[in-house]
Amino acid sequence: MTLLETYEQNGVSPAIYSFGQEILAGLKDRFEKIDEMAELNQGKVLRAMQEARVDAACFAATTGYGYDDVGRERLEKVYAAVFGTEAALVRPQITCGTHALTVALSANLLPGDELLSPVGAPYDTLQEVIGIRPSPCSLAEYGVSYRQVDLLPDGSFDYAGIRAAIGPKTKLITIQRSKGYATRPSFSVPQIGELIAFCKGLKPDVLVMVDNCYGEFVEALEPSQVGADMTVGSLIKNPGGGLAPIGGYIVGTRACVERCAYRLSAPGLGQEVGANLGILPSFYQGLFLAPTVVAGALKGAVFAANCYERLGFRVIPGGAEDRHDIIQAVELGSEAGMRAFCRGIQAAAPVDSYVEPIPWAMPGYDDEVIMAAGAFVQGSSIELSADGPIRPPYAVYFQGGLTWYHAKLGILKSLQCMADAGLLPGMNRAQ
Ligand SMILES: *Cc1c(COP(=O)(O)O)cnc(C)c1O
Repeated sequence: MTLLETYEQNGVSPAIYSFGQEILAGLKDRFEKIDEMAELNQGKVLRAMQEARVDAACFAATTGYGYDDVGRERLEKVYAAVFGTEAALVRPQITCGTHALTVALSANLLPGDELLSPVGAPYDTLQEVIGIRPSPCSLAEYGVSYRQVDLLPDGSFDYAGIRAAIGPKTKLITIQRSKGYATRPSFSVPQIGELIAFCKGLKPDVLVMVDNCYGEFVEALEPSQVGADMTVGSLIKNPGGGLAPIGGYIVGTRACVERCAYRLSAPGLGQEVGANLGILPSFYQGLFLAPTVVAGALKGAVFAANCYERLGFRVIPGGAEDRHDIIQAVELGSEAGMRAFCRGIQAAAPVDSYVEPIPWAMPGYDDEVIMAAGAFVQGSSIELSADGPIRPPYAVYFQGGLTWYHAKLGILKSLQCMADAGLLPGMNRAQ
């Protein structure tokens, strides 16, 4: 059987297949660079595991209070080494990325303090956490105020605006690395480093937290290595490598991470409690696989960008641009386009491939959201997935793929569904 026949059996027409192959032929150098980055980060993760003396005892389950949990303590050492920080909090008790960010913020902001976002509006779910959209138990309810400085029209930092916004009450600055559900650019780690240096130049004792969701292992450095006091993310995204079934992490200075641990468990208890319930093998093994999994996801993102750009759609980042996270936005211009794209991704999945994604009112989001995710871990977006809020410019955010080949099939099937729905007028030109 040939490759073309495999794709045909998987519902991809010869025309779509050869269009994909033509695009791929131009991506060899990009893919080589992505592989090199995976190799670099693999070395980083391995060294951290060896230095922490990871062994079979780390994989044993603990229950109850979880005092003296060796596996938990060493995993936190491994994370601290990988991210170059004094301390780490890595727990299955952190339920998701939003929870990790909430812990980091609420542990380090007190009534009367001000939180500043110098990069525009934060991720949708954070808006309720902060109280930008009123919500019970938001930071606003506890007397923490919020200020925001939007990016300049070209997507760069508004340094004059930031200078004016940093004041005596500014306690913590939050920087989101990835674009999230916005069509602004994602930031590189060096860019984040410059912004942190600027803010700390104006106010040396200000704390900086970076929302690192989707950014881990995309670059050689992490935000924790360019001045962030806390770097925060989800284990069902990049660093869980597709194996972690739940969890979040906070890495950073000992002072900040200790407060996070007190907030997560209880004052006085902190990092000393938290049984691992037998979940740690997946955390260790997932972290071990994460650099390669991220590489596969990046190849998928670059491939998707180049396919859709060639067909005349606006893609962010552009096909030739450098990557700072694994997200690829594709502006499809209509709800029908979003549905067709997501239908293709869903149909390519190993799990739930027979269902049709439809928009729904997801908790924490203001608009209806459509999601394609046929994942082994529910809602995992390091697995091949696509989602987006149903609002102009009708952008779908595509990410993940535990293997590059799965990502490729998903993208080809999305193209097939778009073509079948009559939404690819440019396809004639491409053929
Ligand atoms: C996914 C994401 C979050 C929230 O994570 P959840 O695990 O979905 O709660 C926060 N910020 C960014 C940039 C994200 O991509």
